[in-house]
Amino acid sequence: MNKLKYTFGPVPSRRLGYSLGVDIIPMKTCNLNCVYCELGRSTEMTMTLKEYIPAAVILDEIKQVIDSGERIDYITFSGSGEPTLNTAMGEMIRGIKAMTDIPVAVLTNGTLLYMPEVREMLYDADLVIPSLDAVSREAFRKVDRPHGHLDIDRIVEGIITFRHEYKGPIWLEILFVKNINDSPQEVKLLAEVAEKIGAELVQLNTIVRPPAESNVEPLSDIELEVIRTRFTCKTEVIAHFKSDDSTTPNLSHEDRIYDLIIRRPVTKDEIIASLRLTPEIVAHHVAEMLNTSRIMTSEYSGELYYTSPRVKNRPVLVENGKSS
Ligand code: SF4
Repeated sequence: MNKLKYTFGPVPSRRLGYSLGVDIIPMKTCNLNCVYCELGRSTEMTMTLKEYIPAAVILDEIKQVIDSGERIDYITFSGSGEPTLNTAMGEMIRGIKAMTDIPVAVLTNGTLLYMPEVREMLYDADLVIPSLDAVSREAFRKVDRPHGHLDIDRIVEGIITFRHEYKGPIWLEILFVKNINDSPQEVKLLAEVAEKIGAELVQLNTIVRPPAESNVEPLSDIELEVIRTRFTCKTEVIAHFKSDDSTTPNLSHEDRIYDLIIRRPVTKDEIIASLRLTPEIVAHHVAEMLNTSRIMTSEYSGELYYTSPRVKNRPVLVENGKSS
């Protein structure tokens, strides 16, 4: 398998099972700059839609992972910015559908769904999870710090229009930040809009990982539960289960790293990118696990991989064109 640049995982996810993340946007290109963003502040605030990464490159990488025979329950577009900014996304989704039956999910901030061409790109996805953190202009400005060309009324209309056009399920995600978008008035507006959108599921979240801004705070479980009672549609609290939508947060850093390694050989850089951990944390836990022989190393094409001694018939450890 060639070095993977745009896919991460598959990693276990409470919502999507074993999810193969697909990252089709350069870090951190977005039209929002959310105070809670776990990727830090947006370095490229843009409304420019273009083919940031070509479909062929992404499809080739996905095929390699699928061919390795790993368990994948969902192929999930998410990652380093807003994926719908990439105009090749429709082609990517169609390409995946032609290649496999594995369902495709899209995590999006939902801000571009007012554009017909963006809605159309998502028609073939099996599940779409748009975010909507505020309905009032003031809360939207404070929590998501949008690009100047975005208008919250138009965004809400876009999500509603998409609901009418799209045949698959929509799970609406709302992330609450204390004293920013959790006022009773804002919650009331969000509950009304969620009802209007008619999403199959509304998922309530709060900050669970280090946010872009250090002075913002999460809501408690009780506060989220109280908010949940204000919604009339099917609603669940997902905070404390979510971590970049793809990992099991109750696991320690070491277990999360191990969980990646037992699935396929990975380099240190891949662990850092997949789990969004610092190089220091990864180096520390990898050294610990090597000391206790929980993992081992394997060199291939000049790259050092970490792998599990427990996995005997790993298909992707390939040397000189042959499986080991
Ligand atoms: S949380 Fe998502 S939408 Fe918000 S700034 Fe980060 S990448 Fe963009």
